[in-house]
Amino acid sequence: MKLRVIFSLLIALALITPHAAAANPKSGASCKAVGLTQVFQGKKFTCLKSGKKLLWNRGVPVKKQGPSTPNTAQGSIQERAIQKMKQEMKPQKVGNLFRYHYSPSAVQSFKDLLESDLDYAMSFWASVYKNPDLFNVFYGTEKDLDWLIQAWKPYGFDKNVGFANDFRGRIEREGKYLNAGAVPSQSDASHLSILRHSSLPTRPDSFVSHENVHIVQQYLTNYRTGQMPCWLREGSANLFGNFTMAEKFGADIYSQAKQIDMNNYLRGTSGVEIRKFSESEWLTHLKSLEGNFQGGCDYIYRFSYGSGLLLSEQLMAEHGFSKMMDFWRAFGLDKDWRTSFQEIYGIAIDDWYKTKAIPYLMSEYSRVKP
Ligand SMILES: [Zn+2]
Repeated sequence: MKLRVIFSLLIALALITPHAAAANPKSGASCKAVGLTQVFQGKKFTCLKSGKKLLWNRGVPVKKQGPSTPNTAQGSIQERAIQKMKQEMKPQKVGNLFRYHYSPSAVQSFKDLLESDLDYAMSFWASVYKNPDLFNVFYGTEKDLDWLIQAWKPYGFDKNVGFANDFRGRIEREGKYLNAGAVPSQSDASHLSILRHSSLPTRPDSFVSHENVHIVQQYLTNYRTGQMPCWLREGSANLFGNFTMAEKFGADIYSQAKQIDMNNYLRGTSGVEIRKFSESEWLTHLKSLEGNFQGGCDYIYRFSYGSGLLLSEQLMAEHGFSKMMDFWRAFGLDKDWRTSFQEIYGIAIDDWYKTKAIPYLMSEYSRVKP
């Protein structure tokens, strides 16, 4: 089961502007829409609601992006991974692929965002996502757990009782910050279900593009995402989710989202500091991320999101998109995924961890600040 708190990313991405404003911003001057940002004279101004007015804030100095590590002569692994995705994931217009179910209290602006984000994200997958069936998407608010369970019934999704209980727990714990959504790993087509507090503002973030990757994974693995190692399932969802967001909102978004993903574990409850890991500790850590969520993968520790993103970048940079798709599809076969990995990538998984993955993890975690 995959549930992803995206609150910090939401904050970071609230600073994205979809459209540039016309006039130069000035602290206290009026602006056009909440969340608009504009960089002017070295400061980034954000349009905020103040009483009934919309005003530019004081602005914050813009930090220059640090240089990326030149891992090889052809550019960093991150740059090469992005380049490969740009070359091999050309967006194509897709028809309607989803069946939407909305509760009576669903918020219209979020419905609009959800539908446009899913269409946008899915356009990058046109070459591999050929599902003839509409994929079910459910969306309601904090009041709608009972509605959701009823809406699942015609499809049998209500049988996954643990998933409903997870939502129940999150409604209690998260209160007005409730922002729960997931594509549960289950042995059917699965579904995307979202319960989101009705008072939360609607603004762009990577949630939909990340979950959309899980929809594609479910399809390509023949509904066996539960067999994927955590690092691959969550890490590649981050890789592609961040990439499509950056295609929409600008290249800087990729590095910002990556930093948040890499530091996700700091919000976990393990107290483990992976920046201090030795090579052998990293190897033990990666082996533990070979489990899956049903098997007790460390969702609560949030390790798989950042480590998995870096591992997925490495595979994308060196071997490209089609091999990644071959690897996903291999989970639909009755075959140990480690055997598939060796056949597809030409190296045993542990050797790859030691010679490629761990050096990259260590160099990125020393470069990217907490
Ligand atoms: Zn996920």
